[in-house]
Amino acid sequence: MMKKLALTLALSTLCSAAVFAGGKPARPGETPSFGQLLESFSGVPLSPRGEASLEFLPEPELSPAAAEVLRGDGRYWATVRAADKYQRTALLEAGLDIVEIKKDRVLGFARKAELDRMAEKGFIIENRMTIYEYARKHLKDFPAADGAYHNYKETTELLQSLAERNQDVASLFSAGKTLEGREIWCLRLNSAEKGVKPSSRPGVFYVGNHHAREHLTNEVALGLAVYLLDHKAEPEIKKYLETLDIYIMPMLNADGAEYDIQTGRYRWHRKNTRVNPDKSIGVDLNRNYDSRWCRAGASHTPSADTYCGPSAFSEPETLVIKKFVEARKNLKTLMSYHSYSSLLLYPWAGLATPVENEKDRLVFEKMAKGMTAFTGYKPEQSSDLYVATGDTTDWAYATAGIFAFTTELEGNSFYPGAAIIRKAVDNNVKAAVYMLSVTDDPYKLLR
Ligand SMILES: [Zn+2]
Repeated sequence: MMKKLALTLALSTLCSAAVFAGGKPARPGETPSFGQLLESFSGVPLSPRGEASLEFLPEPELSPAAAEVLRGDGRYWATVRAADKYQRTALLEAGLDIVEIKKDRVLGFARKAELDRMAEKGFIIENRMTIYEYARKHLKDFPAADGAYHNYKETTELLQSLAERNQDVASLFSAGKTLEGREIWCLRLNSAEKGVKPSSRPGVFYVGNHHAREHLTNEVALGLAVYLLDHKAEPEIKKYLETLDIYIMPMLNADGAEYDIQTGRYRWHRKNTRVNPDKSIGVDLNRNYDSRWCRAGASHTPSADTYCGPSAFSEPETLVIKKFVEARKNLKTLMSYHSYSSLLLYPWAGLATPVENEKDRLVFEKMAKGMTAFTGYKPEQSSDLYVATGDTTDWAYATAGIFAFTTELEGNSFYPGAAIIRKAVDNNVKAAVYMLSVTDDPYKLLR
């Protein structure tokens, strides 16, 4: 998997041996069962440096091409003091891409000009290193160890094969194209309706990979699809396939996901691949929705990782979601997968106050509790972290009344290795099935 990457011969041989040691793997070209899919993620080491069996491997070095890309990146990994969510919001607006939140500080990416601006505003920058230095320090993240992840081509092939082999309940369609013209695939699970044809059944929508570097989100969405089809004959899943309208779109930002792995080394890319007027790359798709667009926790500076774009829905990818949701009035629930932090977040993200409608707020809270019982993640209102406008969930709830959530998957890095996939998929599939169980009428949780 992720065949675009330059796998070393020794490592790919080892990985194959580990994968195929576990029993009956799916043969090339064969659709894996859920068990086989999970099996393909087990035995894969967290990193070439992290497993005894792989310690003899030479330390992976940055290739000249990858080193050049990272040297030219211009971003820093910085630690900045921030006492509360208001300071964190101000930092987002100054262009800091907050990745980790600690008690009194945050860690994330920003350019020099943005760091200077933060310092001028009185923020204390405790530590900074170039992304090149950061990448060298994180050599364990060499993508060769992550061959179990699906790149765009592999994602496409798996989705096509799932639809092909489960024509009784599944169909695959493109919801539109990315900026670079890649199809944004959507797998639909519904025993009666196929393709883009509307349905009056209660609908649920799972979407992954808004952010390029969050490759684990694609795996969770794919794992969910494989699980549901693998268990389609079991009474509970059969009932959902016969009564609900289920959509799974694993890789929204396919351009960004491919761009992130293009050099054979990760480049910590978050946004899509829009070339901005200042030649910087990308718009933050999860700041580009039309819900209090760019009013807080987002940046108008194109080079910033939290750049909201020139206008709401300026990007083809968010526009695809807009049209998709607007064309499906039957959608009741939505899950947008992100990584990482082990959180389950619900609106508002863009307001510091809770959802005004008491009943809705209670449903959000109850659903969050229901799902985190399986994942162990922390449920909370999104803006408890920081106020950030223009995200998927606020827009979906505000404009269509959809109970929309953001999952921040587990792990302690955007590149947590392949060994984490199995557990993340397994637990999040259970949470996703819980979401199915309430999609017919989320308000039943209040009765
Ligand atoms: Zn994200």
